[in-house]
Amino acid sequence: RKQIFKLTTGSQQLDKLLGGGIESMAITEVFGEFGTGKTQLSHTLCVTAQMPGHNGYIGGRVIFIDTEHTFRPDRLRPIADRFNLDQTTVLDNVLYARAYNSEHQYELLDNVVEKLHEEAGLFKLLIVDSVMALFRVDYCGRGEIAVRQQKLGQMMSRLQKISEEYNIAVFMTNQITSDLNNLEQPDVQKPVGGNILAHASTTRICFHKNVKGNRIAKVYDSPELEECEVAFAITSGGIDD
Ligand code: ADP
Ligand code: MG
Repeated sequence: RKQIFKLTTGSQQLDKLLGGGIESMAITEVFGEFGTGKTQLSHTLCVTAQMPGHNGYIGGRVIFIDTEHTFRPDRLRPIADRFNLDQTTVLDNVLYARAYNSEHQYELLDNVVEKLHEEAGLFKLLIVDSVMALFRVDYCGRGEIAVRQQKLGQMMSRLQKISEEYNIAVFMTNQITSDLNNLEQPDVQKPVGGNILAHASTTRICFHKNVKGNRIAKVYDSPELEECEVAFAITSGGIDD
């Protein structure tokens, strides 16, 4: 039987908001403006996924799909130090792939599945940072949205299947768009990707910076989690309280 596990984000507040952490057999999405900490959380999870946790979780390897070319392996070193893990081991346990276009991003999932078969049970986390960037570039015309959403749907159902079949946590970051049609709250931020992404994501969290410059995480549109918000910090040791 597959035992669901939860990965810590490095922030107790953020973990609490998520109902314990980033869950396996599910897709967790964090969206927000540039510089709000989405990639920093991705780096932190590369490390925390390797630590033992609750309910007999023993830790495991990570696959990182990078679409914005913002992964910095050296960033993992101080985060590993914070959690008293060996830097080299931590780096060796992260399998990195850069995606060059949306089709390539989809095709990389073949390699992911191959890896998950080869090293059965060893991988615990798949990160996609970010999920929509290449799709937005490849299908930028108005008339291309339908095709984009169809391709996106194929990729998301594949990700869902992977998370359930192999009991891994899928964590993805996403970009935002301002909803100019919402006249009452024109500055409300919405994740891109439309209904397809909304339906595929099990949990959606919005990151933003408040007027004081504090970083805030907020539950978005969840049937299960309370609609509350918490503050978190970005430190040299990664995401923290
Ligand atoms: P995005 O949401 O665009 O992915 P990032 O995760 O890249 O944003 O966050 C970038 C921010 O993280 C920077 O503006 C900086 O404030 C913070 N940051 C990055 N590295 C460090 C570090 N080593 N120590 C403290 N803060 C950091
Ligand atoms: Mg980023």
